[in-house]
Amino acid sequence: MLYLADVVLPVSSPPLLRGAVRVEGPEIIAVGPASKLTAQPGETVTDLGACTLLPGLINAHCHLDYTRFKGTIAPKQSFTEWIKNINALRRSFTTEDYIDSIAEGFELLKQSGATTVANIEAFPELLPHLPVPPLRTWWFLELIDVRVRQDQEETLHGAMSFFEHHKDWLGGFGLSPHAPYTASVDLYRLARTCSEKYGMLSTTHIAESVEEHEMFSHARGALHDFLGGLGRDNSDCGQGSSLSHLVEHGVIAETCIIAHLNYLQDYDYELVARTGASVVHCPKCHTYFGHAPFPLKALREHGVNICLGTDSLASNNSLDMRSEMREVQEFHGLSDREVLEMCLLNGARALGQAGKLGQISPGASADLVAFAHEAKPDAPDVDPYHRVVHSRKEPTLLLVNGRKVEQS
Ligand SMILES: [Zn+2]
Repeated sequence: MLYLADVVLPVSSPPLLRGAVRVEGPEIIAVGPASKLTAQPGETVTDLGACTLLPGLINAHCHLDYTRFKGTIAPKQSFTEWIKNINALRRSFTTEDYIDSIAEGFELLKQSGATTVANIEAFPELLPHLPVPPLRTWWFLELIDVRVRQDQEETLHGAMSFFEHHKDWLGGFGLSPHAPYTASVDLYRLARTCSEKYGMLSTTHIAESVEEHEMFSHARGALHDFLGGLGRDNSDCGQGSSLSHLVEHGVIAETCIIAHLNYLQDYDYELVARTGASVVHCPKCHTYFGHAPFPLKALREHGVNICLGTDSLASNNSLDMRSEMREVQEFHGLSDREVLEMCLLNGARALGQAGKLGQISPGASADLVAFAHEAKPDAPDVDPYHRVVHSRKEPTLLLVNGRKVEQS
């Protein structure tokens, strides 16, 4: 199959005006100017016309369970209050509500041109009730042991066996110790061990709020007191940042994707760089909470891989990676190309898929999206990166693993 488009934006190489992409089965096998990459005898050609064809967008942090929580928790209140609100909402939802929530979340992702999502799953018991996901999805099993110590090993083996039997689910499976204030070092160690033993990825939330910072660095504050009231042994507090607490225990692996890292001590930059872990920034969720500026520049200077995610609709109003790119651009003065590379190249790297996802090149997976250009006449000198980042249209084509994903 040969796809032609007015603009092909491979991201890993320069944009092509009137470009062509050859897809065979699940893989891209060639990309080039349409004048040179021409149809072979009998090959089907799809001319997408006035649009930009690029790699499908990568959302590196999402909780599809909470899609239906949209608009229920008012923004800019304290993080501890937000946690209490979401816990109450979680209790009010039925299994059917969560299944609908996940389905709606996938629809929103499709409508905004995402082909890959890193999804944290708080309810692994839902998995057998779900249809085959329409997108390439990493399912990160959420682990929490602040109050109840479940048999995590049993849950883990159940989930591993589920994915063993669902090879048609594209993506992968990993663990997500929730955060250093809700997950013990033992849970983080389990995630690290699984990463070494089975090559699993992991993800977690670290240094998200000022309350978490106060809790770990100073053994005080609303989160500290709230969790203490639930029975958390806070003896690990008052000894340094929440990141240093985990790094010193040796439980953060290179295969870990750390969400947030908003409140860091000076020594944390070196620590995170040394782990080799990736960081996922969620720009609109950041604004929703009114956090202090994300230390993007300092993390980049330390060579940390930073990608982007939406987080959930309990702290955002859309699951559209283009609006996340515009948000990070506005706050940090980055170019369109830089933010698109963060989403795609850095997102792929965080998921251990560098060269396979987030780019159009021979050997990469055929995960593609096409966004139509504005009505003609379209200025021919529009920067192709700018056009994608600032597009608000739904895709005219979405391919995952070479297969067309139907929009509903
Ligand atoms: Zn999150």
